[in-house]
Amino acid sequence: SINLDFLKELGIQERNPAFSTGRTFATLDNSRETRKIFSPTDGQLIAEVEMSTQEDLEHIIKVSQEAFESWKVLPAPKRGEIVRQIGEALRKYKDPLGKLVTYEMGKIYQEGLGEVQEMIDICDFAVGQSRQLYGLEMKSERQDHRMFEQWHPLGLVGIISAFNFPVAVWSWNSMIAAIGGNVCVWKPSEKTPLTAIACQHILQEVLEANDLPEGIFSYIIGDAEIGASMSHDSRFPLISATGSTRMGKKVGAAVGARLGKSLLELGGNNALIITENADLEMAVRATVFGAVGTCGQRCTSTRRLIVHDKVYDQVKDRLLKIYPSLSIGNPLDESKLVGPLIDEDAVTAFKAALEKAKSEGGNVLIGGESFTDEGLSNNYVTPAIVEAQNHFEIVQEETFAPILYLIKYSGEVENAIAIQNDVKQGLSSAVFTNHLLESEAFLSSAGSDCGIANINIGTSGAEIGGAFGGEKETGGGRESGSDSWKAYMRRQTNTINYGRVLPLAQGIKFDI
Ligand code: NAD
Repeated sequence: SINLDFLKELGIQERNPAFSTGRTFATLDNSRETRKIFSPTDGQLIAEVEMSTQEDLEHIIKVSQEAFESWKVLPAPKRGEIVRQIGEALRKYKDPLGKLVTYEMGKIYQEGLGEVQEMIDICDFAVGQSRQLYGLEMKSERQDHRMFEQWHPLGLVGIISAFNFPVAVWSWNSMIAAIGGNVCVWKPSEKTPLTAIACQHILQEVLEANDLPEGIFSYIIGDAEIGASMSHDSRFPLISATGSTRMGKKVGAAVGARLGKSLLELGGNNALIITENADLEMAVRATVFGAVGTCGQRCTSTRRLIVHDKVYDQVKDRLLKIYPSLSIGNPLDESKLVGPLIDEDAVTAFKAALEKAKSEGGNVLIGGESFTDEGLSNNYVTPAIVEAQNHFEIVQEETFAPILYLIKYSGEVENAIAIQNDVKQGLSSAVFTNHLLESEAFLSSAGSDCGIANINIGTSGAEIGGAFGGEKETGGGRESGSDSWKAYMRRQTNTINYGRVLPLAQGIKFDI
């Protein structure tokens, strides 16, 4: 049995409040519906959460609207200072929060810590960005005129997040949105609400120390219905939603129908190409981390491995040597590399996908079984490798589990790129090659059609400094670094006439 002191340290109780508007949490109320949260690691009950209602959402919106009035006029670098303090608080709680991510979501502890490190990194990034919310100056065609643009906050940003990055995705959105002058309402995945509540306890310290009003950072615990209400509500000028493509199509349609803005980060079907000119040692290492890391539950997990026929057998043999040695088990035990799937439904979906692959002519080379050991939940599986064809229906889908489809190509790298691009999703992609022409072809406009394209790096493990997101059914949104901050702001073009006459643009004469 593990030491659960980290729960107390993070303010997690047996029963936890349905929402918070910052410093204040909802009062516990026995008449509320609750949800029990079981750890995917050992199947034990961690805690209960109370579920929010539509009235709670209404309350949060009102409080947030009020907070926006003062937050939007605070100078951006002062907002950055608050985010700096949040980064400091996260440093203090890195260890317990990393543990809770592992215990509630199931990724290995190193990845739990990595997720919190990403939050710290985005805080640092946002602090610097708070002094750089630059607009451009454009040259006016009219004499004695000055034209430029400014970026202003949007208002309430609704953040709907997925279970697999239960806290990092929120920080990418909220820290960047906050320095821009927005206020955030977070609806975490109903599968991982405790990490969200823990984050709010960490924030609370900073909000209190700075005597900030309620409504700058709120969370609301609820399922798809609360998320849908947020999507339909025009008091949220922006909804940033991370999750399945099925969810994104609904959220995108709801927000689109009211002509709001949406930022969608949806499913991937990421491929790694190994050409005949690759360093196979590196390529295989990257493949294994990409395919089995987080038990195949990253949006950037490697799902398809497209290998040149000249090195295909070599790659296959190496993978088949490594896979049996992957240590599966409790992700809090640092000797383990593969933890559990999130729940039993995910195990069922994993097995069903393998059956479908077989029925379409796929050859399961290894894995695909349940894995059991003392003290473990029923959510552990052995990662699978399947020889398959890209056009199989099951290969075209994202199965959120550790299944690697092995696909052979021959001839030029363009043939591999064509296979890679021949899916509906467009998140992450990678090629392993030491040949300049192959790597340039992959990065060219005729190359990878994904939002992320890597050379000699796997498909997963992005850094926060770049813009993160993908094309096609991945949704088109970009978050985190580069100029992603612009998605959280409205652009205003300003023209000032400092002359004594009123010339019209395009030289139009209009004498009255
Ligand atoms: P999910 O779609 O089941 O749920 C995600 C969130 O959406 C949850 O908070 C859920 O309550 C909410 N939701 C569901 N239906 C909704 C609706 N109709 N309206 C509003 N909200 C709704 O996804 P999941 O199982 O939690 O996460 C796995 C998926 O997320 C995978 O497809 C993965 O690729 C994707 N993902 C993408 C990225 C990315 O950046 N592209 C990052 C992480 C995860």
